[in-house]
Amino acid sequence: MWLHGDLVRDPVIIAVDDEVGVLHAVQRDLISHYSGRFRILAAESGESALEALRELKVRGDPVALLLVDQRMPGMSGVEFVGLALELFPDVKRVLLTAYADTEAAIHAINDVQIDYYLLKPWDPPEERLYPVLDDLLDDWLAAFRPPFEGVRVVGHRWSAASHQLKDFLGRNQVPYQWLDVEVSDEARSVVAAAGEGAGLPLVVLPGGGVMQAPSIAAVAARIGMTEKAELPYYDLVVVGAGPAGLAAAVYGASEGLHTLLVEAEAPGGQAGTSSRIENYLGFPSGLSGADLARRGLTQARRLGAEILTPQEVTALRVEDGYKILSFAGGDEVNARALLLSSGVFYRRLDARGVDQFTGAGIYYGAALSEAANVAGEDIYVIGGANSAGQAAVFLSAQARTVTILVRGASIEQAMSQYLVERIQATANIKVAVRSEVAGVDGTDRLRSVTIRNLATGEELEVPATAIFIFIGAIPHTGWLEGVVARDERGFVLTGPDLAEHDLTAWRLDRRPHLLEASIPGVFAAGDVRHGSVKRVASAVGEGSVAVMFVHRYLSEA
Ligand SMILES: Cc1cc2nc3c(=O)[nH]c(=O)nc-3n(C[C@H](O)[C@H](O)[C@H](O)COP(=O)(O)OP(=O)(O)OC[C@H]3O[C@@H](n4cnc5c(N)ncnc54)[C@H](O)[C@@H]3O)c2cc1C
Repeated sequence: MWLHGDLVRDPVIIAVDDEVGVLHAVQRDLISHYSGRFRILAAESGESALEALRELKVRGDPVALLLVDQRMPGMSGVEFVGLALELFPDVKRVLLTAYADTEAAIHAINDVQIDYYLLKPWDPPEERLYPVLDDLLDDWLAAFRPPFEGVRVVGHRWSAASHQLKDFLGRNQVPYQWLDVEVSDEARSVVAAAGEGAGLPLVVLPGGGVMQAPSIAAVAARIGMTEKAELPYYDLVVVGAGPAGLAAAVYGASEGLHTLLVEAEAPGGQAGTSSRIENYLGFPSGLSGADLARRGLTQARRLGAEILTPQEVTALRVEDGYKILSFAGGDEVNARALLLSSGVFYRRLDARGVDQFTGAGIYYGAALSEAANVAGEDIYVIGGANSAGQAAVFLSAQARTVTILVRGASIEQAMSQYLVERIQATANIKVAVRSEVAGVDGTDRLRSVTIRNLATGEELEVPATAIFIFIGAIPHTGWLEGVVARDERGFVLTGPDLAEHDLTAWRLDRRPHLLEASIPGVFAAGDVRHGSVKRVASAVGEGSVAVMFVHRYLSEA
């Protein structure tokens, strides 16, 4: 209808009259005085004006004033205003009445709190129309807060689809506003305006487009993220944009290689989910993973690397020395050299009920997008390594209590001393040692966790609204099966570690370079590599060094 494609976000004045001649006259007067500051819309009936208001509501566009004829067939002006107020309770409302309808207009002042009634005709507008409307609009503008300009996500807090979407937008640094239908009137009225049976979550785009229960890929495409490679051939393709991949992209592009960086979820990888990285050189007071990812990505782009995200590499084959990568959507690219920097992902917790509540109270990783939702709650963090400790400290700022469950006898075993000390000094963090999750329970959302004491075998069910899991990691290398040599846990073997491996496919006279895998010209860096140190700095170091070996390989080839 007439709102589509209209990207102007000025507040709206809507005029409603069934007499076309009168409507045009009102519209003309409004445009001549208010255009440029307000958007003037006109409707020939209450019904069509309501339809427009619903669309404006879903898009998040502000509506300042209704100028409505009282006597209309079907729906009277007062009836229309009553319904319009459900969508825009703060809108200013002015009734246009003939002299004979004055009585109805006076009643309307009480019924729907009409701000003013104007008698037709309103000529000259400079005397009889604008002063009244100016006054009302000044009032409205004084209380007006401009709408949020980014993506808006409307849904249930306990929905896995809402969580995935928020996590995706947050990790990709797309500004978004979250509207929870359980607690926000605004959210409920957006859903009501979208119509009965609207699929949640609703995604309202900055231009006003609305998507119902969309896939991540569909949202990514609409907000302009790139899924398709520009070229068919690259000197270097880097799979995974964690610290290792970002570093490789920065060095590869800055050293003149046509470099493509492909990321399945969000740049930053695991580091991007870290609330505070304290041990990365050059940042004495630490920096958040999101900040590190944003800086790395900006740098890689500026130096000329092409970045595809979200796009997953699903297969690799080698033909005449070219490494051919297939993407989830079926596209392919060719690379002269390939860097595997696909990192690791969290192991799933194998306990009763966990899968059912994943995204609805159970989260893998720090799930930074959920942190604001745990205010005042009793929550659990599972795991005893640095990532768990960091998350516990971060979440303790919001939650009432954070309990860390570890299977070992203490957190000192696998956690850095600075985090252990921070945890000990934080009053609302408790540590339950020799403990594991036996199961979880709930309804539409997580309500409780059953904790098993490993020393006594006793089980205790306690209330819980959120559990954050950090229990070790496995590499992202299933797609390399049968192509690239890996160790028994799936990590990619490189350089000297390949010595004991059967290298019958290796056709060159030389030994593999330091970070080179079992196929010449395929390298691995960061957490995905067998024997790597699982740290941001070492991933960055390996990603940078790998590019030197890429140059060497390309010059030999
Ligand atoms: C919560 C948390 C806190 C941490 N804190 C610290 C800290 O304070 N200090 C520290 O030194 N280290 C820390 N670490 C460890 C550090 O983050 C990792 O060692 C580092 O991120 C490894 O980098 P990487 O590039 O090798 O892999 P990752 O960071 O795992 O990145 C790999 C990327 O590859 C992508 N990918 C995987 N498969 C594919 C595919 N098939 N196609 C396309 N893309 C793919 C993934 O989506 C991911 O983005 C922390 C880790 C976590 C989880």
